[in-house]
Amino acid sequence: VCNSKEIVEFFDLGDQPLANSLPETANAVEKKYPLSLSWCPVCNLVQLNHTIDPSELFSNYVWVTATSMVAREHARAFCEKALQRKALGKGEYALEIASNDGTFLKPFIERGVDVLGVDPAANIVEMAVADGVPTECGFFGESVAQKVIDTKGKAGIVFARNVMPHVANLHDFVKGMSMCLADDGLLAIEIHYADIICRELHYDSIYHEHLCYFTLKSAETLLKHYGLYVFDIEKSPISGGSVVLYAGKTNSAPSAVLQQYHAKEQESGINSFEVWKQFAEDSFRHKETLLDLLKNYEGHAQIAAYGASARSSTLLNFCNIGHKSIFAVADQNPLKQGRYTAGTNIPILHPDEVLSKNPDCILILAWNFADEIIQILKTKYHYCGTVIIPLPNMPRVQNI
Ligand SMILES: [Zn+2]
Repeated sequence: VCNSKEIVEFFDLGDQPLANSLPETANAVEKKYPLSLSWCPVCNLVQLNHTIDPSELFSNYVWVTATSMVAREHARAFCEKALQRKALGKGEYALEIASNDGTFLKPFIERGVDVLGVDPAANIVEMAVADGVPTECGFFGESVAQKVIDTKGKAGIVFARNVMPHVANLHDFVKGMSMCLADDGLLAIEIHYADIICRELHYDSIYHEHLCYFTLKSAETLLKHYGLYVFDIEKSPISGGSVVLYAGKTNSAPSAVLQQYHAKEQESGINSFEVWKQFAEDSFRHKETLLDLLKNYEGHAQIAAYGASARSSTLLNFCNIGHKSIFAVADQNPLKQGRYTAGTNIPILHPDEVLSKNPDCILILAWNFADEIIQILKTKYHYCGTVIIPLPNMPRVQNI
């Protein structure tokens, strides 16, 4: 964000495979890359030390937004809130950056609003277009922004959900957003909030795709550089601890909620090195606790897991939990079924197949969807056993 070279390393999670490259065979030897975090004493940004080539990460993506029912509901709510803040009339449109399969643009289309998506994953762009969501394939930045402006003009609403933390060339990206946004337009940026990551110990959200971990302070520092001013902030229910920043091109008065967030950041010390050092220590303590819990079952009981999300990859690799302790991971995404978890070799299967083996214990790796998953386990599978919800904070055991 500030181009300082004085960043300080504070948390090494070891060499890890790419979280979203799920191997197709059981004993594939995955390429591993360093996974460690640094803190910047100038802008206080927390960031990864090692950047993977984006084309290696995002060109053939297996995560499809619409797989989650909660995501579809969230999309409708997100759209309504955005349109309440900025109604779009004839000739105006909403632009989504990293629009994935178009789940978040569909509610706009249903309300008769013109839309455009941009996404780098060719396979998913194809799906979106086939599904009636106009989508450009490309890595968003200044050059894609120019192309968008040339064909469609500036957008009344620009939104980017959980994408800014993934971007290697942040300056090019934010400049592109600023270019595409109409002078009276609304910018909505969803980020996984570093304060929640730190406070609730979401160390599993650290993986190679997440290059930056923004606080309000570090995000505002970046946006201001391109004439974008945050005026409001809101909790987002989707990713177990994300916030939506609302910004525009005029420096309007900060909302009361935004002022509270500023005050809270001051108070919690989230922009300080000491707090992040503590986060690293607590993460290692969490690992020990989770391993102790699993030891209670190993050898005499069947342990399964639920949700082969990207974040589960960090948790499994960091804690060194593999196919010797967990026999399978249930996942509803057909693109993931039949594959194996990266670096830990656990087969990923349809939930029907995993539940048919009557596991005694289920580790809910997609813990941000824990309520939805427990509901499925109870109503669809009449599951009767133990679930472990590893996060937030220390692991919790629940009998259902
Ligand atoms: Zn900095």
